[in-house]
Amino acid sequence: MTTIDPLDTREDLDLDLIIIGAGFAGMMALHHARGLGLRTVVLEAGDDVGGTWYWNRYPGLTCDIESYFYSYSFDEQLQQEWEWRDRYATQEEILSYARHVADRFALRSGIRFGTRVVSQAYDETALRWSVIDEHGVVRTARFVIMATGVLSAPKEMRLEGEATFGGQVLRTTHWPDGVDLTGKKVAVLGTGSTGIQVSTEIADKVEHLYVLQRTPSFSVPNHNRPLDPAQTAEVKANYPALRAHCRTTLDGLILPGTGRNTADVPVEEQLAILEDAWADGRGFRFDVTFEDTLLDDGANRVVADFLASKIRQLVDDPETARRLTPSGYPFGTRRICMDAGYYAIFNRPTTTLVDLRETPLVGLTATGVQTTTEHLEVDAVVLATGYDAVTGALSRIEIVGRDGRRLSDHWAEGARTMKGIAVAGFPNLFLITGPLSPSVFTNVIASIEQHVEWLTTLLEHAKAEQLDEIEALPEAEEAWVRHSDELAASTLHTRGTSWFSGANVEGKPRRILAYVGGLGAYGEHLAAETTQDYPGFALRRVQTVGAAHSDTEEN
Ligand code: NAP
Repeated sequence: MTTIDPLDTREDLDLDLIIIGAGFAGMMALHHARGLGLRTVVLEAGDDVGGTWYWNRYPGLTCDIESYFYSYSFDEQLQQEWEWRDRYATQEEILSYARHVADRFALRSGIRFGTRVVSQAYDETALRWSVIDEHGVVRTARFVIMATGVLSAPKEMRLEGEATFGGQVLRTTHWPDGVDLTGKKVAVLGTGSTGIQVSTEIADKVEHLYVLQRTPSFSVPNHNRPLDPAQTAEVKANYPALRAHCRTTLDGLILPGTGRNTADVPVEEQLAILEDAWADGRGFRFDVTFEDTLLDDGANRVVADFLASKIRQLVDDPETARRLTPSGYPFGTRRICMDAGYYAIFNRPTTTLVDLRETPLVGLTATGVQTTTEHLEVDAVVLATGYDAVTGALSRIEIVGRDGRRLSDHWAEGARTMKGIAVAGFPNLFLITGPLSPSVFTNVIASIEQHVEWLTTLLEHAKAEQLDEIEALPEAEEAWVRHSDELAASTLHTRGTSWFSGANVEGKPRRILAYVGGLGAYGEHLAAETTQDYPGFALRRVQTVGAAHSDTEEN
């Protein structure tokens, strides 16, 4: 007799849970959903796991969070057995890790690759979501988890004259295999984390590199190196305690801060502390070294001036150093970049910085890049122009909730969520690292784990109580949006001009898209939902009595 595995979902279109995305969030969510016995399928646009680490294959891509912590903690054996090679892992190493996790937990059988979701709608009668993929296949499920990532939807970017350009246009977010830029003339557009990494990596290989910069970033050296086995052994011996500590911090990392305001520290001591942070190689230290860096203009300038002095030391030509020095936004309101020798590339005769604020970009010609004052002959143009961050992957799917309301309409004036994890009017739909959760202000893996664990507890409760509908309350959502906005407004973040607020995408409504209160404090807000029987949600059990429905609300 053949026994049927009740969790075998190979041909199943009728499920308990659909998870969208097989990056780090989707993989962990699948593993935990299986643990609850939920019939679950993950729908993934790519052909393999890894999410943003699958798509982004540009030269020089290295993580800016140390590998000891940019990894899962949910399985002790996994974190003990995996050996990281470098302090900061490369894209290849992180993708290998993701593949290892997929194999180790037999996740692939639950993932439909090459399956991009295009729309999903909530059926208020059936109390189920219908999810439609690019092939027209309709799957239904009671619950949907959006594990679509925060930096996964590239900003749409088409340069004037792109179609007439005879060379290669390369997008960092979809880097093709087999590209060789050796000996070529290359222009890199963009000087965020991505552009800085690409430019640094290719500078000594190309014939000439033009770095096209509109807004300079703050960047610090990452001092990457192979990991010391003794340190690895020590970390592994203390992993549970270290991970638990990470959950209590602002950013999901353990970074030494002084706990003091800048003004309370004598100037010589300030400099010594900042020198120490520079030598350390963990860029995010600069955000937390002093308590008031992101709260007070004067304090902010201390860090900004220190980093500007480093640029002057590292770049031989004073004019180039001046152009590379950030201005016009407070330090920390754009994500700090971490590099492997970025400023030194400008001392090479074969690297030219093109300041697009002085000479704006016009577009591409048949043979190169045209600015308002010059024409640069190039063989290839690299677009490192960033993402429609945090909300982009969600807004590219048509999501229709209660009463036919579209998520894009609900968010027309800015993303709104209940604690970053659910949306009023969109029952049984959950977001991992959604807008107004700490997400991009943290080590995102720590944020992912926090959300998956919390959702697992919720879904377990739903199963035990036979709940049909879980829906964020509009008043709870409103309160969270206000709280998140107020916290952001108490910092310098609202003066930033980056993807943190949506300012990098034309027409995108502005709102600080991540919760600035920190992972630790946020964890307490989430925990309050669980321990107080979910006051921010309506939990409904719908019992069928003959033809009529009787609804029971738990709260
Ligand atoms: P980004 O920080 O948004 O930078 C995009 C760059 O492209 C900016 O310099 C931007 O200039 C420029 N740009 C965009 N449109 C332009 C236009 N029309 N004309 C001229 N310049 C234009 O994007 P990203 O570098 O991809 O980084 C995004 C985030 O991804 C990072 O902040 C980081 O969180 C993450 N990331 C992490 C790593 C890592 O782990 N090491 C690596 C890469 C990315 P303006 O600012 O003037 O618009």
